[in-house]
Amino acid sequence: KDNIHITLKDIDHLANTSFPLCMRHLFYKLREDHHLKHGGRMQFGLFLKGVGLSLDDALAFWRDEFSKKVGLDRFEKEYAYGIRHNFGKEGKRIDYTPFSCQRIISSVPSVGNHNGCPYRHFSDENLRAALGKMGVGGRSLDDVMDKVKNHHYQLACTLTFEAIHSSSCDTGINHPNQFFVESQKILQS
Ligand code: SF4
Repeated sequence: KDNIHITLKDIDHLANTSFPLCMRHLFYKLREDHHLKHGGRMQFGLFLKGVGLSLDDALAFWRDEFSKKVGLDRFEKEYAYGIRHNFGKEGKRIDYTPFSCQRIISSVPSVGNHNGCPYRHFSDENLRAALGKMGVGGRSLDDVMDKVKNHHYQLACTLTFEAIHSSSCDTGINHPNQFFVESQKILQS
C-alpha cells in the first residue's frame, strides 16, 4: 500500500516526526530501558516491519538495545527468534500484520508493559506531558483531552496528527502505520 522503506539510521528522526504516540512511547522506553516486554516488542516490532524496516535492520536495531541490558548471547538465544518470527522466518512462517488501533486500544497492558494506546492507557497527567513533548499545547491540547474524556481515542490521535502537522487528516487515524504513511506524505511533499 506504500513504498516507504526506512533504514536504521532514519529511526530516531522518524520517531520524532512521524510515529504516533503509542510507538514513540515504545521507542523511547526501549532507548531508556534497553528492553521491552513481549507485548511492547510485538506492537512496536510489527509496526517497524510495517514501515519498511528490513529483517536485517530490525535485528540490528533490537540487538543494539537489548545487548546493553541482557548481553549479546542472551539476545541471540532468547529474542532474535521472536524478531525473525514476526517476519515469518520462524515457526509457522506467518508474515504477521502490524496491529490496528482497535486492537491496540482494546489490549490491556500489564504492569511494566509499555504497549497499548496512550490515549486510553495513560493517566491524564502523563498524557498531557507526553503530548506537550510532541509540541501539542494550548487549545489543541484541550481538544485532544476532550476527545479522550469521551473515550474517542482515535479521534484524539487524529487531532494530535493535525496539530503537529498543521494539516488536516480527513480519513481519521485507524492504524499506527497509516499515521506514519500520512505523516510522511505531508513531510515529503
Ligand atoms: Fe497508536 Fe492508534 Fe492509539 Fe494513535 S489511536 S496512539 S495510532 S493506537
